[in-house]
Amino acid sequence: MQPVMLADAAQADDLDPLRHLRERFVLPDGVIYLDGNSLGALPVGVAEAVDDAVRRQWGTDLVRSWTSAGWWEAPLRIGDRIASLVGAHPGSVVVSDSTSVDLFKLVVAGVRLSRARPGPRRTVIVVDDATFPTDRYIVDEAARLLGMQVRAAAPDDASSLDDQVALAVFCHVDFRTGVLYDLPAVTRALHEVGALALWDVCHSAGAVPIGLASAGVDLAVGCSYKYLNGGPGAPAWAYVAPALQGGIDSPLPGWNSHREPFGMQQVFAPVDGIGRLRTGTPPMLSMIALEAALAAFDGVRIEDVRRRSLELTALMIDAVDEYLADVVEVVTPRDPAGRGSQVSLRHPEAYPIVQALIERGVVGDFRAPDIIRLGLAPLYVSRQDVVLAVQALATVIGSEEFRAPRFSARATVT
Ligand SMILES: *Cc1c(COP(=O)(O)O)cnc(C)c1O
Repeated sequence: MQPVMLADAAQADDLDPLRHLRERFVLPDGVIYLDGNSLGALPVGVAEAVDDAVRRQWGTDLVRSWTSAGWWEAPLRIGDRIASLVGAHPGSVVVSDSTSVDLFKLVVAGVRLSRARPGPRRTVIVVDDATFPTDRYIVDEAARLLGMQVRAAAPDDASSLDDQVALAVFCHVDFRTGVLYDLPAVTRALHEVGALALWDVCHSAGAVPIGLASAGVDLAVGCSYKYLNGGPGAPAWAYVAPALQGGIDSPLPGWNSHREPFGMQQVFAPVDGIGRLRTGTPPMLSMIALEAALAAFDGVRIEDVRRRSLELTALMIDAVDEYLADVVEVVTPRDPAGRGSQVSLRHPEAYPIVQALIERGVVGDFRAPDIIRLGLAPLYVSRQDVVLAVQALATVIGSEEFRAPRFSARATVT
Protein backbone atom coordinates (compact mmCIF):
# COMPACT_ATOMS: atom_id res chain seq x y z
CA MET A 1 0.00 0.00 0.00
CA GLN A 2 1.17 3.52 -0.79
CA PRO A 3 1.79 5.62 2.34
CA VAL A 4 -1.17 7.93 2.94
CA MET A 5 0.21 11.41 2.39
CA LEU A 6 -1.43 14.73 3.01
CA ALA A 7 0.01 16.12 -0.22
CA ASP A 8 -1.57 13.33 -2.27
CA ALA A 9 -4.87 13.96 -0.53
CA ALA A 10 -4.68 17.65 -1.36
CA GLN A 11 -3.93 16.89 -4.99
CA ALA A 12 -6.84 14.45 -5.25
CA ASP A 13 -9.12 17.06 -3.66
CA ASP A 14 -8.14 19.56 -6.34
CA LEU A 15 -9.11 17.10 -9.08
CA ASP A 16 -12.45 16.08 -7.56
CA PRO A 17 -15.42 17.19 -9.70
CA LEU A 18 -17.47 17.74 -6.52
CA ARG A 19 -14.86 19.89 -4.76
CA HIS A 20 -16.91 23.09 -5.25
CA LEU A 21 -19.76 21.72 -3.11
CA ARG A 22 -17.89 22.60 0.07
CA GLU A 23 -18.45 26.25 -0.79
CA ARG A 24 -22.16 25.62 -0.36
CA PHE A 25 -21.60 25.25 3.40
CA VAL A 26 -20.73 27.59 6.24
CA LEU A 27 -18.03 25.74 8.14
CA PRO A 28 -15.98 27.27 10.97
CA ASP A 29 -12.25 27.66 10.43
CA GLY A 30 -10.07 25.21 12.28
CA VAL A 31 -12.75 22.54 12.54
CA ILE A 32 -12.79 19.21 10.73
CA TYR A 33 -16.42 18.22 10.92
CA LEU A 34 -16.98 14.48 10.95
CA ASP A 35 -20.41 14.43 12.52
CA GLY A 36 -22.63 15.29 9.57
CA ASN A 37 -24.36 11.95 10.12
CA SER A 38 -25.67 13.32 13.42
CA LEU A 39 -26.21 17.01 12.58
CA GLY A 40 -25.40 18.06 9.03
CA ALA A 41 -23.46 21.32 8.56
CA LEU A 42 -25.17 24.63 7.84
CA PRO A 43 -25.69 25.26 4.11
CA VAL A 44 -25.18 28.73 2.67
CA GLY A 45 -28.51 30.52 2.24
CA VAL A 46 -30.35 28.91 5.13
CA ALA A 47 -29.81 31.79 7.55
CA GLU A 48 -31.16 34.25 4.95
CA ALA A 49 -34.16 32.05 4.18
CA VAL A 50 -35.05 31.75 7.87
CA ASP A 51 -34.54 35.48 8.37
CA ASP A 52 -36.92 36.18 5.48
CA ALA A 53 -39.41 33.67 6.86
CA VAL A 54 -39.39 35.36 10.25
CA ARG A 55 -39.30 39.02 9.25
CA ARG A 56 -41.28 39.12 6.02
CA GLN A 57 -43.40 36.00 5.79
CA TRP A 58 -44.35 35.94 9.45
CA GLY A 59 -43.69 39.53 10.57
CA THR A 60 -45.25 41.37 7.65
CA ASP A 61 -47.43 38.99 5.67
CA LEU A 62 -48.69 37.20 8.77
CA VAL A 63 -51.37 34.55 8.28
CA ARG A 64 -51.56 35.26 4.54
CA SER A 65 -48.24 33.44 4.16
CA TRP A 66 -49.99 30.09 4.42
CA THR A 67 -51.07 30.86 0.85
CA SER A 68 -48.74 33.56 -0.48
CA ALA A 69 -45.52 31.89 0.71
CA GLY A 70 -46.70 28.36 -0.09
CA TRP A 71 -46.60 27.23 3.53
CA TRP A 72 -49.55 24.87 3.22
CA GLU A 73 -48.06 22.88 0.34
CA ALA A 74 -44.51 22.86 1.78
CA PRO A 75 -44.66 19.29 3.18
CA LEU A 76 -45.40 17.87 -0.28
CA ARG A 77 -43.23 20.32 -2.22
CA ILE A 78 -40.18 19.61 -0.04
CA GLY A 79 -41.13 15.93 -0.08
CA ASP A 80 -40.75 15.92 -3.86
CA ARG A 81 -37.30 17.46 -3.54
CA ILE A 82 -36.27 14.72 -1.12
CA ALA A 83 -37.91 12.10 -3.36
CA SER A 84 -35.46 13.03 -6.12
CA LEU A 85 -32.55 12.24 -3.76
CA VAL A 86 -33.85 8.88 -2.59
CA GLY A 87 -35.05 7.43 -5.88
CA ALA A 88 -38.76 8.00 -5.29
CA HIS A 89 -41.45 9.27 -7.64
CA PRO A 90 -42.97 12.73 -7.15
CA GLY A 91 -45.95 12.53 -4.81
CA SER A 92 -44.58 9.67 -2.75
CA VAL A 93 -42.73 11.56 0.02
CA VAL A 94 -44.17 13.91 2.65
CA VAL A 95 -42.21 15.93 5.19
CA SER A 96 -43.74 15.82 8.65
CA ASP A 97 -43.13 15.38 12.35
CA SER A 98 -40.06 13.45 13.56
CA THR A 99 -38.65 10.12 12.42
CA SER A 100 -40.02 8.49 15.56
CA VAL A 101 -43.56 9.77 14.95
CA ASP A 102 -43.52 8.99 11.23
CA LEU A 103 -42.29 5.51 12.03
CA PHE A 104 -45.22 4.98 14.38
CA LYS A 105 -47.64 6.04 11.66
CA LEU A 106 -46.06 3.74 9.11
CA VAL A 107 -45.73 0.68 11.36
CA VAL A 108 -49.42 0.85 12.23
CA ALA A 109 -50.45 1.70 8.66
CA GLY A 110 -48.25 -1.15 7.38
CA VAL A 111 -49.85 -3.73 9.68
CA ARG A 112 -53.29 -2.45 8.64
CA LEU A 113 -52.29 -2.79 4.97
CA SER A 114 -51.18 -6.35 5.63
CA ARG A 115 -54.46 -7.15 7.41
CA ALA A 116 -56.42 -5.82 4.44
CA ARG A 117 -54.81 -8.42 2.17
CA PRO A 118 -56.36 -11.82 1.53
CA GLY A 119 -55.07 -14.80 3.53
CA PRO A 120 -54.67 -15.63 7.21
CA ARG A 121 -53.82 -12.78 9.57
CA ARG A 122 -50.10 -12.36 10.11
CA THR A 123 -48.96 -11.79 13.67
CA VAL A 124 -45.30 -10.78 13.56
CA ILE A 125 -43.39 -7.54 13.06
CA VAL A 126 -39.68 -8.11 12.46
CA VAL A 127 -37.39 -5.35 13.65
CA ASP A 128 -33.68 -4.81 13.07
CA ASP A 129 -31.94 -6.22 16.16
CA ALA A 130 -29.33 -3.44 16.14
CA THR A 131 -31.70 -0.64 15.27
CA PHE A 132 -31.50 2.86 16.63
CA PRO A 133 -33.32 2.49 19.97
CA THR A 134 -36.19 4.86 19.17
CA ASP A 135 -37.20 2.56 16.31
CA ARG A 136 -37.38 -0.37 18.69
CA TYR A 137 -39.43 1.54 21.26
CA ILE A 138 -41.88 2.61 18.57
CA VAL A 139 -42.18 -0.87 17.07
CA ASP A 140 -42.71 -2.45 20.51
CA GLU A 141 -45.42 0.03 21.39
CA ALA A 142 -47.18 -0.23 18.03
CA ALA A 143 -47.09 -4.02 18.36
CA ARG A 144 -48.61 -3.78 21.85
CA LEU A 145 -51.47 -1.65 20.55
CA LEU A 146 -52.04 -3.91 17.56
CA GLY A 147 -51.69 -7.25 19.36
CA MET A 148 -48.65 -8.28 17.31
CA GLN A 149 -45.46 -10.09 18.26
CA VAL A 150 -42.04 -8.53 17.73
CA ARG A 151 -39.19 -10.61 16.37
CA ALA A 152 -35.70 -9.04 16.40
CA ALA A 153 -33.32 -10.02 13.60
CA ALA A 154 -30.62 -8.59 11.36
CA PRO A 155 -31.83 -7.44 7.92
CA ASP A 156 -29.73 -10.10 6.19
CA ASP A 157 -30.97 -12.95 8.39
CA ALA A 158 -33.40 -14.72 6.08
CA SER A 159 -34.25 -17.26 8.78
CA SER A 160 -36.34 -14.59 10.53
CA LEU A 161 -38.78 -14.45 7.62
CA ASP A 162 -41.83 -16.67 7.22
CA ASP A 163 -45.51 -16.41 6.37
CA GLN A 164 -46.28 -15.01 9.83
CA VAL A 165 -44.46 -11.77 9.10
CA ALA A 166 -46.68 -8.81 8.26
CA LEU A 167 -43.97 -6.20 8.15
CA ALA A 168 -40.25 -5.76 8.74
CA VAL A 169 -38.63 -2.53 9.93
CA PHE A 170 -34.99 -2.47 8.92
CA CYS A 171 -32.26 0.18 8.84
CA HIS A 172 -30.45 0.66 5.54
CA VAL A 173 -27.24 1.66 7.34
CA ASP A 174 -26.47 0.53 10.89
CA PHE A 175 -25.90 3.78 12.84
CA ARG A 176 -23.21 2.21 15.02
CA THR A 177 -21.14 0.13 12.65
CA GLY A 178 -21.82 1.80 9.31
CA VAL A 179 -22.85 -1.51 7.72
CA LEU A 180 -24.94 -0.91 4.58
CA TYR A 181 -27.51 -3.62 3.88
CA ASP A 182 -28.55 -4.76 0.43
CA LEU A 183 -31.90 -2.98 0.35
CA PRO A 184 -33.17 -4.40 -2.97
CA ALA A 185 -32.28 -8.01 -1.99
CA VAL A 186 -33.78 -7.75 1.50
CA THR A 187 -36.92 -6.12 0.07
CA ARG A 188 -37.24 -9.01 -2.41
CA ALA A 189 -36.84 -11.56 0.38
CA LEU A 190 -39.61 -9.85 2.35
CA HIS A 191 -41.92 -9.79 -0.64
CA GLU A 192 -41.25 -13.48 -1.27
CA VAL A 193 -42.82 -14.33 2.10
CA GLY A 194 -45.64 -11.84 1.53
CA ALA A 195 -44.36 -9.25 4.03
CA LEU A 196 -44.13 -5.49 3.61
CA ALA A 197 -40.76 -3.70 3.73
CA LEU A 198 -40.46 -0.59 5.90
CA TRP A 199 -36.99 0.89 5.62
CA ASP A 200 -35.44 3.46 7.92
CA VAL A 201 -32.98 5.35 5.73
CA CYS A 202 -31.88 7.99 8.26
CA HIS A 203 -28.22 7.14 7.72
CA SER A 204 -28.27 6.78 3.96
CA ALA A 205 -30.51 9.59 2.66
CA GLY A 206 -28.27 12.19 1.04
CA ALA A 207 -25.16 9.99 1.00
CA VAL A 208 -26.10 6.70 -0.67
CA PRO A 209 -28.40 6.06 -3.66
CA ILE A 210 -31.43 4.32 -2.20
CA GLY A 211 -33.70 3.64 -5.16
CA LEU A 212 -36.90 3.32 -3.13
CA ALA A 213 -39.07 2.99 -6.23
CA SER A 214 -36.80 0.71 -8.27
CA ALA A 215 -36.33 -1.64 -5.29
CA GLY A 216 -40.10 -1.84 -4.78
CA VAL A 217 -39.89 -0.60 -1.18
CA ASP A 218 -43.34 -0.33 0.38
CA LEU A 219 -42.76 2.19 3.16
CA ALA A 220 -39.81 4.25 4.36
CA VAL A 221 -38.86 6.95 6.84
CA GLY A 222 -35.84 9.21 6.94
CA CYS A 223 -34.27 12.03 8.84
CA SER A 224 -33.65 15.47 7.37
CA TYR A 225 -31.00 16.77 9.78
CA LYS A 226 -28.24 14.24 9.02
CA TYR A 227 -26.81 14.07 5.47
CA LEU A 228 -29.69 16.25 4.21
CA ASN A 229 -28.48 19.14 6.42
CA GLY A 230 -31.94 20.44 7.33
CA GLY A 231 -30.85 21.75 10.74
CA PRO A 232 -31.43 20.74 14.36
CA GLY A 233 -34.85 19.17 14.72
CA ALA A 234 -35.64 19.42 11.01
CA PRO A 235 -38.89 17.55 10.32
CA ALA A 236 -38.54 13.99 9.08
CA TRP A 237 -40.09 12.48 5.95
CA ALA A 238 -42.17 9.44 5.10
CA TYR A 239 -42.47 7.47 1.87
CA VAL A 240 -45.31 5.27 0.67
CA ALA A 241 -45.16 3.44 -2.66
CA PRO A 242 -47.75 5.01 -4.99
CA ALA A 243 -49.71 1.76 -5.36
CA LEU A 244 -50.21 1.51 -1.58
CA GLN A 245 -51.21 5.10 -0.87
CA GLY A 246 -54.94 4.50 -1.35
CA GLY A 247 -54.88 1.88 1.41
CA ILE A 248 -53.05 4.01 3.98
CA ASP A 249 -55.01 4.25 7.21
CA SER A 250 -52.99 6.49 9.53
CA PRO A 251 -53.24 6.06 13.29
CA LEU A 252 -52.53 9.79 13.68
CA PRO A 253 -54.93 11.57 11.35
CA GLY A 254 -55.29 15.29 11.80
CA TRP A 255 -56.86 18.25 10.14
CA ASN A 256 -53.85 18.58 7.82
CA SER A 257 -54.61 15.16 6.33
CA HIS A 258 -58.33 15.81 5.95
CA ARG A 259 -59.75 15.95 2.44
CA GLU A 260 -61.24 19.36 3.29
CA PRO A 261 -59.06 20.83 6.02
CA PHE A 262 -61.06 24.04 6.19
CA GLY A 263 -64.43 22.27 6.05
CA MET A 264 -64.07 21.82 9.81
CA GLN A 265 -66.12 18.65 9.87
CA GLN A 266 -66.35 16.35 12.88
CA VAL A 267 -65.88 13.23 10.75
CA PHE A 268 -62.44 12.45 9.37
CA ALA A 269 -62.16 11.84 5.63
CA PRO A 270 -58.58 11.35 4.43
CA VAL A 271 -57.09 13.29 1.56
CA ASP A 272 -55.83 11.22 -1.39
CA GLY A 273 -52.12 10.68 -1.80
CA ILE A 274 -49.12 10.93 0.45
CA GLY A 275 -50.61 13.96 2.25
CA ARG A 276 -52.64 11.38 4.14
CA LEU A 277 -49.65 10.96 6.45
CA ARG A 278 -49.76 14.56 7.60
CA THR A 279 -51.17 15.25 11.05
CA GLY A 280 -51.12 18.80 12.42
CA THR A 281 -49.57 22.15 11.59
CA PRO A 282 -45.95 21.69 10.51
CA PRO A 283 -43.05 23.65 12.09
CA MET A 284 -42.79 26.19 9.28
CA LEU A 285 -39.49 27.79 10.30
CA SER A 286 -37.83 24.40 10.29
CA MET A 287 -39.56 23.52 7.01
CA ILE A 288 -38.20 26.66 5.40
CA ALA A 289 -34.71 25.96 6.75
CA LEU A 290 -34.87 22.44 5.30
CA GLU A 291 -36.06 23.63 1.90
CA ALA A 292 -33.23 26.15 1.67
CA ALA A 293 -30.73 23.54 2.87
CA LEU A 294 -31.66 21.12 0.10
CA ALA A 295 -30.34 23.65 -2.43
CA ALA A 296 -26.91 22.29 -1.50
CA PHE A 297 -27.86 19.27 -3.63
CA ASP A 298 -28.90 21.31 -6.68
CA GLY A 299 -27.41 19.81 -9.83
CA VAL A 300 -25.76 17.02 -7.84
CA ARG A 301 -26.24 13.36 -8.78
CA ILE A 302 -26.48 11.08 -5.78
CA GLU A 303 -24.37 8.49 -7.65
CA ASP A 304 -21.52 11.03 -7.75
CA VAL A 305 -22.01 11.72 -4.05
CA ARG A 306 -21.71 7.98 -3.42
CA ARG A 307 -18.52 7.72 -5.45
CA ARG A 308 -16.92 10.48 -3.42
CA SER A 309 -18.21 9.01 -0.18
CA LEU A 310 -16.60 5.66 -0.99
CA GLU A 311 -13.29 7.34 -1.84
CA LEU A 312 -13.36 9.18 1.48
CA THR A 313 -14.21 6.13 3.57
CA ALA A 314 -11.60 4.02 1.73
CA LEU A 315 -8.97 6.69 2.34
CA MET A 316 -9.88 6.83 6.01
CA ILE A 317 -9.59 3.06 6.40
CA ASP A 318 -6.19 3.14 4.64
CA ALA A 319 -5.01 5.95 6.90
CA VAL A 320 -6.19 4.08 10.00
CA ASP A 321 -4.32 0.99 8.79
CA GLU A 322 -1.22 3.09 8.41
CA TYR A 323 -1.32 5.18 11.59
CA LEU A 324 -3.37 3.08 13.97
CA ALA A 325 -3.03 -0.58 12.98
CA ASP A 326 -3.48 -2.80 16.07
CA VAL A 327 -4.56 0.24 18.11
CA VAL A 328 -8.16 0.50 16.97
CA GLU A 329 -10.38 -2.03 15.23
CA VAL A 330 -12.04 -0.95 11.98
CA VAL A 331 -15.65 -2.00 12.52
CA THR A 332 -17.05 -0.67 9.26
CA PRO A 333 -16.84 -3.18 6.38
CA ARG A 334 -13.88 -2.88 4.05
CA ASP A 335 -16.06 -4.06 1.19
CA PRO A 336 -17.35 -0.81 -0.39
CA ALA A 337 -20.70 -2.41 -1.23
CA GLY A 338 -21.20 -3.08 2.46
CA ARG A 339 -20.63 0.32 4.00
CA GLY A 340 -22.43 3.64 4.29
CA SER A 341 -20.68 6.99 4.63
CA GLN A 342 -19.03 6.62 8.02
CA VAL A 343 -16.06 4.83 9.50
CA SER A 344 -16.53 3.35 12.97
CA LEU A 345 -13.52 2.40 15.05
CA ARG A 346 -13.54 0.34 18.23
CA HIS A 347 -11.39 1.22 21.22
CA PRO A 348 -12.13 0.56 24.91
CA GLU A 349 -11.44 4.23 25.72
CA ALA A 350 -13.54 5.56 22.86
CA TYR A 351 -15.35 8.16 24.97
CA PRO A 352 -12.34 10.17 26.24
CA ILE A 353 -10.59 9.73 22.89
CA VAL A 354 -13.48 11.40 21.06
CA GLN A 355 -13.51 14.23 23.62
CA ALA A 356 -9.77 14.80 23.19
CA LEU A 357 -10.19 14.74 19.44
CA ILE A 358 -12.95 17.36 19.62
CA GLU A 359 -10.65 19.62 21.67
CA ARG A 360 -8.23 19.39 18.76
CA GLY A 361 -10.94 20.56 16.39
CA VAL A 362 -11.82 17.18 14.92
CA VAL A 363 -15.51 16.69 15.66
CA GLY A 364 -16.71 13.10 15.55
CA ASP A 365 -18.87 11.31 18.05
CA PHE A 366 -19.01 8.42 20.46
CA ARG A 367 -21.55 5.62 20.39
CA ALA A 368 -21.79 3.38 23.43
CA PRO A 369 -20.13 1.25 24.46
CA ASP A 370 -16.82 1.61 22.57
CA ILE A 371 -17.27 3.16 19.12
CA ILE A 372 -15.46 6.20 17.73
CA ARG A 373 -17.81 7.23 14.92
CA LEU A 374 -16.47 9.40 12.10
CA GLY A 375 -19.08 10.49 9.57
CA LEU A 376 -17.82 11.54 6.14
CA ALA A 377 -20.47 13.81 4.66
CA PRO A 378 -19.44 13.75 1.00
CA LEU A 379 -20.61 17.27 0.16
CA TYR A 380 -18.19 19.04 2.45
CA VAL A 381 -15.59 16.65 3.90
CA SER A 382 -12.33 16.58 1.94
CA ARG A 383 -9.57 14.02 1.65
CA GLN A 384 -7.27 16.40 3.49
CA ASP A 385 -9.77 16.44 6.36
CA VAL A 386 -9.67 12.67 6.44
CA VAL A 387 -5.88 12.42 6.63
CA LEU A 388 -5.58 15.24 9.19
CA ALA A 389 -8.30 13.66 11.32
CA VAL A 390 -6.61 10.27 11.41
CA GLN A 391 -3.27 11.90 12.19
CA ALA A 392 -4.93 13.79 15.07
CA LEU A 393 -6.48 10.55 16.30
CA ALA A 394 -3.08 8.85 16.22
CA THR A 395 -1.62 11.72 18.25
CA VAL A 396 -4.44 11.68 20.80
CA ILE A 397 -4.04 7.96 21.35
CA GLY A 398 -0.25 7.71 20.98
CA SER A 399 0.45 10.57 23.40
CA GLU A 400 -2.24 9.28 25.79
CA GLU A 401 -3.52 12.84 26.03
CA PHE A 402 -7.06 11.40 26.16
CA ARG A 403 -6.29 10.20 29.72
CA ALA A 404 -6.59 13.73 31.12
CA PRO A 405 -9.51 13.61 33.58
CA ARG A 406 -11.46 16.39 31.82
CA PHE A 407 -12.09 14.09 28.85
CA SER A 408 -13.87 11.47 30.92
CA ALA A 409 -16.69 13.65 32.30
CA ARG A 410 -19.80 12.46 30.47
CA ALA A 411 -21.88 15.12 28.75
CA THR A 412 -25.63 14.64 28.24
CA VAL A 413 -25.20 14.48 24.48
CA THR A 414 -22.41 12.26 23.23
C1 LIG B 1 -31.28 9.64 13.70
C2 LIG B 1 -32.19 8.47 13.75
C3 LIG B 1 -33.47 8.58 14.30
C4 LIG B 1 -33.91 9.86 14.94
O1 LIG B 1 -35.25 9.89 15.28
P1 LIG B 1 -35.89 11.28 15.70
O2 LIG B 1 -37.31 10.97 15.94
O3 LIG B 1 -35.64 12.24 14.59
O4 LIG B 1 -35.19 11.76 16.93
C5 LIG B 1 -34.29 7.46 14.27
N1 LIG B 1 -33.87 6.30 13.71
C6 LIG B 1 -32.64 6.18 13.17
C7 LIG B 1 -32.21 4.89 12.54
C8 LIG B 1 -31.77 7.26 13.18
O5 LIG B 1 -30.55 7.13 12.65
